[in-house]
Amino acid sequence: MSDEHPRERPSAAQILATYDGPPLRIMEVCGTHTHEIFRLGIRKLLPPQVELISGPGCPVCVTPVGFIDEAIWLAEHGATITTFGDLVRVPGTSGSLATARAEGGRVQVVYSPLDAVAYAREHTDERVVFLSVGFETTVPAACLAVDQALAEGIGNFSLLTANKTMPNAYAALKDSADVFLYPGHVHAITGTQLCEDLAEQGVSGVLAGFTAKELLTALAVAVRKGGEGKPFFVNAYPRVVRPEGSPAAVALINKLMEPCDTEWRGLGVIPQSGLKLREKYESVDARRVFDMPHIEGRANPACRCGEVLQGKCKPSDCPLFGRGCTPQHPVGACMVSGEGACSAYFQYGGDVL
Ligand code: SF4
Repeated sequence: MSDEHPRERPSAAQILATYDGPPLRIMEVCGTHTHEIFRLGIRKLLPPQVELISGPGCPVCVTPVGFIDEAIWLAEHGATITTFGDLVRVPGTSGSLATARAEGGRVQVVYSPLDAVAYAREHTDERVVFLSVGFETTVPAACLAVDQALAEGIGNFSLLTANKTMPNAYAALKDSADVFLYPGHVHAITGTQLCEDLAEQGVSGVLAGFTAKELLTALAVAVRKGGEGKPFFVNAYPRVVRPEGSPAAVALINKLMEPCDTEWRGLGVIPQSGLKLREKYESVDARRVFDMPHIEGRANPACRCGEVLQGKCKPSDCPLFGRGCTPQHPVGACMVSGEGACSAYFQYGGDVL
């Protein structure tokens, strides 16, 4: 028997706008999610009891000051630094790679780790170091570059690593939010088992894609399921994230790298949350190639990036936001990066300025 007046299902936007459940804190783990949600105006749809907080998922933002100091030290000791553009402007303890370049250091912006290998191939008289930062998403490309350089016998290429992995970061942040908006591109590599396990431990989350429809759907799921108060996990990005992830990419990472303790800006050292080159690959490990001393960075005490990355404050709570700190004159990494929460608030958050 057909229903002559079928009830229309509410759209994801309607679900969000009409949510009348308990207060919910949803953490956008990924900086690209933060930017897209702002850019698409989705924040304006949310009722007041739904709070979006920014998390640590911006590779440049979580890279500690000490790493920038290491890169500057390398530039001052004969290395040619190859890197993505954002890192060039991130302040170290004193100065940035841009400053080092202005003072005669060689700093080249590249668009991929393989571009850095190509640069090394063409400049055999230079010792080329690629700055390998980022999460499980970007590590396979860095590993591929190392593989390529070794296969071709390119002896003037190495990596300076500060790569991060998400599992222990989720554990460190689990009390900061009621629901995680999981980064789709990370889990396209690692799969969904971790999210399933976290749900069993009481940590809720939704895996989200990056289009308007995917973000609205993921947030609608987050409020609907989150409002019920029971731990859950939903993969709202199934067109890209498969349960098994990408076994080939994971195998490539495991071949070249191993877990290590690592420092996250704002979160301190999280055990076994980083990746470093295995001993067998010391010939492409820049710290060993250049016999680098231990370098301790000091963050600008006025910058609250650390608290922003833990969801403890909003960028607009920082006294420097929009005053001493702007994208043109950034004081901290979160204002430099195209995925940083401070730059998202500055570009799109007109109502919070
Ligand atoms: S506004 Fe600038 S100084 Fe303040 S937390 Fe953000 S990056 Fe740091």
